[in-house]
This record gives sequence, structure tokens and C-alpha cells, in this order.
Amino acid sequence: MVKEGQREPLLEIRRVTRRFGALVALDNVSFSIGKGEIFGIAGPNGSGKSTLFNVITGIPFGPSEGEVILSGRPIHRLRPHEISRAGVLRTFQKDAEFATLTARENVYASAVYCGQMSSAEAKDAAERALDDVMLAKEHRTKSASNLSVFERKQLMIASAIAGRPKVLLLDEPAAGLTKPEVSGLSDLISAVHARGITIVLIEHVLPLLLKVSKHLMILNHGAVIASGEPEDVVRNPEVVEAYLGKREAGL
Ligand code: ADP
Ligand code: MG
Repeated sequence: MVKEGQREPLLEIRRVTRRFGALVALDNVSFSIGKGEIFGIAGPNGSGKSTLFNVITGIPFGPSEGEVILSGRPIHRLRPHEISRAGVLRTFQKDAEFATLTARENVYASAVYCGQMSSAEAKDAAERALDDVMLAKEHRTKSASNLSVFERKQLMIASAIAGRPKVLLLDEPAAGLTKPEVSGLSDLISAVHARGITIVLIEHVLPLLLKVSKHLMILNHGAVIASGEPEDVVRNPEVVEAYLGKREAGL
């Protein structure tokens, strides 16, 4: 594995703060994500995880203070569609597909919009993305609302990778999945990563995070309380107290 000091940063978050009135949802957060990494993020509910994805993508808002740098270029003043076209794409905790369009049409729309492709290119890119997430051919003509929970996850990831991101931000993709499906999702994430896409994974399902992440960062009350090798991070007493302890207590 590449050592911390040697990794080439793809995405850098520098002293990012996000306020909502008096609430500080992100408090002076700095970290960097290496090219080709799978970077895991965990933390209790309300710790600022989704807000972090919001400020990186500008969807629906950017940071109050601080900078977001992609491949050495500041992106935090760009508009959301410019950020996605620069190569940062995200998924959402809630279903965000067009329910009445077919799976294939959804992925195609994403390729056209985010990947800025011609119609023919987008058709190819959509089919390749659907192959990559292994969505069975017979499901591709179904409307998104008729897909199963796992198939909608496949669709969500296919829609994101069809736009050819450099970095893909996944916000709790395992939510609502059964244990065997979580294992299927882990294979999907590995397959996307194998295509050369850097991945940032917010997740509550710790075994999934530990299985796929090379680096793990923990947020608590909008601040980074631990960051490093996943196995070390989950043994950190502050992390156990803030997060794992609560989980064990069923909170
Ligand atoms: P997480 O994803 O870690 O569960 P969030 O990033 O969604 O947490 O939220 C962090 C904090 O910011 C929470 O206290 C939440 O209520 C608050 N928050 C998030 N978005 C908004 C918003 N648009 N307006 C006001 N408060 C918000
Ligand atoms: Mg969240």
C-alpha cells in the first residue's frame, strides 16, 4: 500500500466549515483523499457526514469557509453542474432516480448530463455502466420504481459511473439491504474501484467499511476525531466512546 506521505492527493478538503445559523455542522475539517483510494467515513447520526458530501459537490450548498481542491484546482466556487463535470459525482441517502423512466433511460440521462456525451456515446456509456454493476439485462427495460431495493442500488451506482467520475461519493449505500445484499454491494464497490474510480464511502455498516476501505475517518459533532488505517481507527478509545460504544449500547 502507498504510504500516507507518498500518496498523490486527488481531492483535498482544507479547513472546511459549514454553518446553519448557530449550528456548526462541519467545524474546520481538513483531509485529503489519495488517487485510487477507497476512503471510508463513519460517525454518529448528525455528525456532518452528508453535509461533507453536500459541500464537496455544491449540492445543494457549498462550504461557509474553507476550500475544496480537485487535482490541485479549487472547485468550491464552481456551480454544482461544473463540479460534477469536473469529475466529482455523488449518490444520495434517499432514492434519487427518475421513477417512471426505465433503468436504461436513467443511466443514459446521467451520462448525457454529467458526462456531457453525445447521444451515441451516452448509449454506450450507459450500457457499459449497467454491465459494470451487473444489472441483469431483463431489468434494464423496467421502470426504476419496479426494481427491487438492491437493483435500485445497482441503478444508483450505474447512473453515477456513467458520468465518468474521477471520484465517486457514496452516501450510506448499504441502507435497507440484507446481509447477503451488503456482500453483493461490497463486490459492486470493488468492481467500480477496479475501473480506476476513487471512492469515498460514508457507511454505518461497519463490516462493509472495514472490508473495502483502505483509510477510515471518523466524524463527531462536525470534527474529525480519528483518521488512518481502519483497523487502528476502530480501536481508538475516542472512536469507541463516540461511535462504537453508542452502537453497542443500541443508540
Ligand atoms: P449525518 O449525515 O452525519 O447524519 P448531516 O450532515 O446530515 O449528518 O447533519 C449534520 C448536522 O447538520 C445535523 O445537526 C443536521 O440537523 C444539520 N443540518 C444538515 N443539513 C441542514 C440544513 N440544510 N439546514 C439546517 N441544518 C442542517
Ligand atoms: Mg447522512
